[in-house]
Amino acid sequence: MALINENFLHLPNNYLFSEIAQRVKAYKAGHPSSEVISLGIGDVTRPLPRASVDAMKQAAEEMAYARTFRGYGPEQGYDFLIEAIICNDYLPRGIKLKPDEVFISDGAKSDCGNIGDMLSVGNSVGMTDPVYPVYADSNVMCGRTITYLPCRAANGFVPSLPDKKLDIIYLCYPNNPTGTVLTRAELKRWVDYALQNDSLIVYDGAYEAYIQDAEIPHSIYEIDGASLCAIELRSFSKTAGFTGVRCGYTIVPEKLTAATRHGERISLNRLWNRRQCTKFNGTGYITQRGAEAVYSREGKEQTRQIIAYYMENARRMKEDLQHAGFGVTGGENAPYLWVKTPEGVTSWEFFDRMLHRANVVVTPGAGFGAEGEGFVRLTAFGKREDCVKAMKRIRERM
Ligand SMILES: *Cc1c(COP(=O)(O)O)cnc(C)c1O
Repeated sequence: MALINENFLHLPNNYLFSEIAQRVKAYKAGHPSSEVISLGIGDVTRPLPRASVDAMKQAAEEMAYARTFRGYGPEQGYDFLIEAIICNDYLPRGIKLKPDEVFISDGAKSDCGNIGDMLSVGNSVGMTDPVYPVYADSNVMCGRTITYLPCRAANGFVPSLPDKKLDIIYLCYPNNPTGTVLTRAELKRWVDYALQNDSLIVYDGAYEAYIQDAEIPHSIYEIDGASLCAIELRSFSKTAGFTGVRCGYTIVPEKLTAATRHGERISLNRLWNRRQCTKFNGTGYITQRGAEAVYSREGKEQTRQIIAYYMENARRMKEDLQHAGFGVTGGENAPYLWVKTPEGVTSWEFFDRMLHRANVVVTPGAGFGAEGEGFVRLTAFGKREDCVKAMKRIRERM
């Protein structure tokens, strides 16, 4: 008899986005002439940078000739992309990485879901509430106990240090869903906590490119000692529109270790490499050439324009929502706006009001955790004209 992993039965029903889709569908069926605008989804709308498209075309052409054809690639990724990442994302910030500390992936979701493969089920895990659901669900799947660190208006949506020892901590900054960032001093408190408590930080920097404030750190390795306690995840998805192409990367420093039950220190870089070589096929050659082109002169300029487009959406949305009387967090260093619902209105009730009165789809905060109740998330990933139209309706009808 094949037995299941019963931890799967403890997963919360993944009803957030299906419930949203269902309610939108029902509304549209009853109001066929209404034009519903979605500011709820976390997907981007701007097309790929031209530099990436051209690089992928050329890479595809190389595949047509025996002389330039590529078969199985290195599971860790091609050197050309690893070098581009080290030279462009890290060296300018004073961070020196070796090529074998960088692992190219098919995106940050896979890596943050899989990283637990090399860590004991017995570890205690901490993460914020509200939270990106992948951190929580991937830990429930293998049976780890989660401690939630509440992020509320009272603490500026920045979690306090845990009052106990936690073995693994997930941090995501700029944050999805609240749009908040950590200052250098705040991030240093987490690194110091991890060093003192021998904890591992899994730092999700998927929105790093959205940081506008020069004082905000882009990488956890800008903090002294972080290479002894942190893994960092990055992605081309939100930066360069790679949500459909699929490419990201993970930094596992050579010096980073965790313990066996007997206290022996083991290199996590070695374990992650072993895990990836066994279970991951590597990111496709064509995709990696597309990602490499993000770092070309044209690619950088085109990517900068994409980010600027979304951040202009965020700026306008925040201004309009505040004029309409809503309490809004985020939107300054992140493409997310975290909006307080009116007093006494739940996040699902507010979702319904927005849908019915303004024909705008938002994401109920309760879908990101108990502390998300009383908030909704709006994304700045929409088309400009949709954002403008949606804000006009909210001003007039809400
Ligand atoms: C979108 C997102 C990612 C990136 O996911 P990919 O798998 O790289 O597309 C990672 N973390 C968070 C918090 C995200 O919102």
